[in-house]
Amino acid sequence: MSPSVVPVPAPSHGLERQAIIDLSAIANNIRRLREICAPAQFMAVVKADAYGHGMFQVARTALEAGAQWLGTAHVSEALALRAAGIDAPVLSWLHTPETDFMAAVEQDIDLGCSGWELGHIVAAAREVQRPARIHLKIDTGLGRNGCSRQDWQALVAAAMVYESQGLLRVVGIFSHLAVADEPSRPETDEQLERFREAIAVAEAAGVQPDVRHIANTPATLSRPDAHFDMVRVGLGMYGMSPFADQTSADLGLVPAMTVQTLIALCKDVPSGQGVSYGSNYKTTQATTLGLVPLGYADGIPRIATGGPVRVNGVTYPVVGRIAMDQMVIDLGPAGRDGFADAEVPGSALGATAVLFGNGADGGPLVEQWAAAAGTINYEIVTRISQRVPRSYVGGAGDGAADGTGAAAGGGL
Ligand SMILES: *Cc1c(COP(=O)(O)O)cnc(C)c1O
Repeated sequence: MSPSVVPVPAPSHGLERQAIIDLSAIANNIRRLREICAPAQFMAVVKADAYGHGMFQVARTALEAGAQWLGTAHVSEALALRAAGIDAPVLSWLHTPETDFMAAVEQDIDLGCSGWELGHIVAAAREVQRPARIHLKIDTGLGRNGCSRQDWQALVAAAMVYESQGLLRVVGIFSHLAVADEPSRPETDEQLERFREAIAVAEAAGVQPDVRHIANTPATLSRPDAHFDMVRVGLGMYGMSPFADQTSADLGLVPAMTVQTLIALCKDVPSGQGVSYGSNYKTTQATTLGLVPLGYADGIPRIATGGPVRVNGVTYPVVGRIAMDQMVIDLGPAGRDGFADAEVPGSALGATAVLFGNGADGGPLVEQWAAAAGTINYEIVTRISQRVPRSYVGGAGDGAADGTGAAAGGGL
């Protein structure tokens, strides 16, 4: 078929490539997780642009779905929430000496404090003449942020001196788990024991925290004894499973992000055709190649050759190297004519190509891309780049998820 005889389909502006975010799925995931964690409160973790889903839309949806708190890593992320008019409680926990503690205190952002930050926070509180709200963080075994156990008593004592001076209030005590995604490992028991000890030390020193919190998504799902007064949930709210042996569906969660594009070129090639840089893949028969206009600049890992792309109900593995802007699927000898319902008769040109979505109708899942890239679902969604426009369907008011909200070609 020469280009001159290919019918030209009408352009569908805005649909060339997109990450469709199903806000109804997020709201329903939150409702389900809140049933699991009740009576503990629910913090919706919206750091890193809500794991790539869009911080403002997700934060608003989460609050409408009943989340009482928002969580971000950086103060700058929390300030952006405030600038957008979101006045719910927000906790930020990862600071540097350059963090804008004054703006944080002024804007009522709760601050995690592992030790060194205390002086900065108090100086900010003095400057803006307003008591800071802090959550003291104990390292119970993760070995990242958090006060080491030998320094805990001194940190608590220092904080209580400042609290008695009206410079701050210790609103929370918290920690973070290392291996909760592997529920059979004993370290979580040890971390919970150390957390209870740290709480006891703080309470003996007069701390009266509103919220004690340690559970992330895996602990929310697998460790009711880790819920305390609040859980901090990211991954599960977006509908993904933190467990290697349980899917989203097993957990009653619906993945909220669908990444899709349109086939950019469809052409017949002979046997022996090399595909993409390095010519690592060579066709073994006369076949049809489909060009998928997403690449590593869009956040598709370059290493993830073999990742799934669904076109007209069939899932194909990516063949050859993934490039900056594009990658290729081998549609097979039937590819040319096997697309009766494609927008262009007899060709997959312009057909919707889904990389991952909610899994309805057996569609590909983000976990398959994670496996192809040797990583975890968290990293795939978080790295979908800003070159892929986000679009939104549904919302917190939309009743029960029927699992079709973000299906291929759905919405918008
Ligand atoms: C990112 C993060 C969370 C959320 O973890 P999920 O596994 O995505 O639920 C909770 N707490 C802290 C401190 C975090 O950094």
